[in-house]
Amino acid sequence: MKDPLRRKHTLIIDLEKLNTLNAEGCPACGRKFTLGEIAVLASGPWEGGPRVVHESDAVWDPKTNTFLERKFYSLSDPVRSAPAGR
Ligand SMILES: [Zn+2]
Repeated sequence: MKDPLRRKHTLIIDLEKLNTLNAEGCPACGRKFTLGEIAVLASGPWEGGPRVVHESDAVWDPKTNTFLERKFYSLSDPVRSAPAGR
């Protein structure tokens, strides 16, 4: 991941984040996070701004320079579809 804009929204799950985030799990897929996993700050159908989700749950939107939750991304503009291979 070379794009500095993307890197700003990307984080690695450390022990502290693990304890905080796994109280609820991932808001996108409901699974727990694991130590050392890549996660991103993404906007989604939830309220209260960007939340931490698994990298694979999110799609980078170059238009807004933010990650969007995958389902939210395709819903927000039905014409485009989520890019494959992530
Ligand atoms: Zn997830």
